[in-house]
Amino acid sequence: MRLQRTIKQAVSFEGIGLHTGNRVIVKLKPAPRDTGIVFYRNDKNVIIRANIASVTDTAFATSLGSNGTRIKTVEHILAALSGLGIDNLIIEINGSEIPILDGSSTELIDIILKGGIAKQGKKQPYMRIIKPVIFEDGHAEIAALPYEGRKLTYRIQFNHHLLGEQQLSIDLNEENFIKEVAPARTFGFLKDVEYLRANGLAKGGSLDNAVILGEDGVMNKSGLRFKDEFVRHKILDFIGDISLIGCPVFGHIVANKAGHSSNIKFTKKLLASTDCWEIISDFEQAPRFVYPQKTLIFQ
Ligand SMILES: [Zn+2]
Repeated sequence: MRLQRTIKQAVSFEGIGLHTGNRVIVKLKPAPRDTGIVFYRNDKNVIIRANIASVTDTAFATSLGSNGTRIKTVEHILAALSGLGIDNLIIEINGSEIPILDGSSTELIDIILKGGIAKQGKKQPYMRIIKPVIFEDGHAEIAALPYEGRKLTYRIQFNHHLLGEQQLSIDLNEENFIKEVAPARTFGFLKDVEYLRANGLAKGGSLDNAVILGEDGVMNKSGLRFKDEFVRHKILDFIGDISLIGCPVFGHIVANKAGHSSNIKFTKKLLASTDCWEIISDFEQAPRFVYPQKTLIFQ
């Protein structure tokens, strides 16, 4: 059982948004215990809490909002905070989209760690899955299963001759989040870029912040960071999206062909399935519970 955490001192960074293309400045500031993650649009004087009720849009990124003021593309910074176990933080921003930086969470992690991690003398509650929650939405399937730890199994499948299917199962902790998940970059298909641009999206997108797959392969000169960078990035997105529950989830999440929209719908279903989880504030002392893992939703 760990203590709640924030950062020791404020840090700031700037960059452009993937979709808006706008340059913004972000300040990360320590927050008192039990605050949670809070966005503050200082250009509009609006507070937006990082919780599932704040989600306004899930097309190509996860957006949060409050009374018409929005923040787009919150998933990579939320994933970085969840992966590092930062529970309380103010994210102050002077625009409508979190900078994409290199398209992964690695630079965000470096920035957060520059602020230092501060323990806050109070235990962080966890959500612990005690019964399976199964969710289906079109092609997407996501399940939460009881498991003694934080495990994610993710499978993607695309109709692209170079991508096809990738699957990865990972037991999450701070170290392997930083090494195995955080460096995986946003990706897209060249054939979709024109569509996105025509719809006012991906204005800040480039080979510096996204892996682009063309007909002949990966267009980025430096190639891939992992052979299965694509599924790793989907895991990164999922970690960011599910963090909108507001506390870490102990269980095994199995996802198949999911994306932001299904991640958020699943998270809502999970929260509503109150007989399938419990909130515990002293995990190590809770009775151990092992559920037979026979309900995997894909083979
Ligand atoms: Zn992403």
